[in-house]
Amino acid sequence: QLTSARAMLEDAADRFSFQLEEQSIEIFIQVESTAGEIAVDRDRIDQVLDNLVSNAIKYTPDGGQISLRARRVEPQLLEVTVQDNGIGIPKKDLNRIFDRFYRVDKARSRSMGGTGLGLSIAREIVKAHGGSIVLESELGEGTKVSFTLPYLQEEAAV
Ligand code: ATP
Ligand code: MG
Repeated sequence: QLTSARAMLEDAADRFSFQLEEQSIEIFIQVESTAGEIAVDRDRIDQVLDNLVSNAIKYTPDGGQISLRARRVEPQLLEVTVQDNGIGIPKKDLNRIFDRFYRVDKARSRSMGGTGLGLSIAREIVKAHGGSIVLESELGEGTKVSFTLPYLQEEAAV
C-alpha cells in the first residue's frame, strides 16, 4: 500500500508525544516535497522508526531536540533520517552498534533499560526491504541514523 513519507514521520512523532512532552524534547519534521509516497510494509517500517525514535529520546537529555527528515535521494530511493543532539556514542563502539545485544557502556545503558536489540532489528527490517542503514555519532554532540528504502519493492519479498 502507498503511504506518504510525511504521514509516516508525523505518525511516528505522535506515538511518542507523551515521552517527548515529559522530557521537554522538541521534535522537528522536515519532508522534502519530492519525498512523495512509497510502497512499504507500514508495520515493519513503523517498527524501524519506533526503534530509532525511542533511542533518540532515551539517549537525549531533557530539553533536547530530535529531527525527523525524509527526502528522495535517487529517483527510486527514499532516505529517512532520525537525528538527535543527545549523549552520542564513543568512536570505539560505532562498529558494533548494530550487533545483537550490543549496548554502549553497560553502566550508562543499564539505568535506561533495554536489551540492545533495537538497532539490529531496525537493520534487519531495512535490509529485508532492499535498503541500507547508517549511523553517525559524536560523543556529547548527538547521533544521526539514516536509512533508505526503494520506492518500489521487488515483488512481495518482504
Ligand atoms: P533496546 O532498543 O533493545 O530497548 P538499546 O536501546 O540499548 O535497547 P539499541 O537500540 O540496539 O539497544 O542500541 C544499542 C546501543 O547503542 C544503546 O545501548 C546505546 O548505547 C547506543 N545508542 C543507540 N542509539 C543511540 C542514540 N540515538 N544516542 C546515543 N546512543 C545510542
Ligand atoms: Mg533501542
